[in-house]
Amino acid sequence: MIPNAIKNFIEHFRKIPGLGPRAATRLAFFISRLDTQTRSNLIESLKNLENLERCKRCFFIKEKEQELCEICSDSRRDSRIIAIVEKDTDILTLEKPREFRGTYLILGELSGRGILEESHKNRIEQLKRRIEGEPEGNIEEIILAVNPHALGDMLYEILKRDFKHLTSHITRLGRGLPTGGEIEFADEETLKNALRRRS
Ligand SMILES: [Zn+2]
Repeated sequence: MIPNAIKNFIEHFRKIPGLGPRAATRLAFFISRLDTQTRSNLIESLKNLENLERCKRCFFIKEKEQELCEICSDSRRDSRIIAIVEKDTDILTLEKPREFRGTYLILGELSGRGILEESHKNRIEQLKRRIEGEPEGNIEEIILAVNPHALGDMLYEILKRDFKHLTSHITRLGRGLPTGGEIEFADEETLKNALRRRS
């Protein structure tokens, strides 16, 4: 009854967080009703996402032709202050209050099985090597900016142990963030306070 093109679309789009099969079905029918030009623009914008890859320094998303992401290549940012976050959208959220002038490292999402996965460990290891390779061989500060419920304590202990020869300043976002709350959904004022009251 349903054309294969729509079935196929639903099969892919239902896996997108926040969509699910019903929303994906509605979306498929919505797009199929659009006029040709609007639909082409939509497809084009989706296709352009192929031109993205991860920054090799902080793992934030960037255009393929850029050497580093916008943040890492901005000379006004302090690369000696590094905030460790879970995902791209956490960076977008932390950037909104215009309070933080350091750089980032995206660790990957920590939810799930309650352990640090190999990919997380690799990124921490890479950060360590990167700092060791800096001219001074140390940095100003590492801020652990992961969601309060997500392995935060354990990660903090690991950082304190493994990075103590690289910085004396390992901090966490202030207590302003509600326990179990998501950085992504915190309002600007809360985030500003959490950044100022890091300790
Ligand atoms: Zn970067």
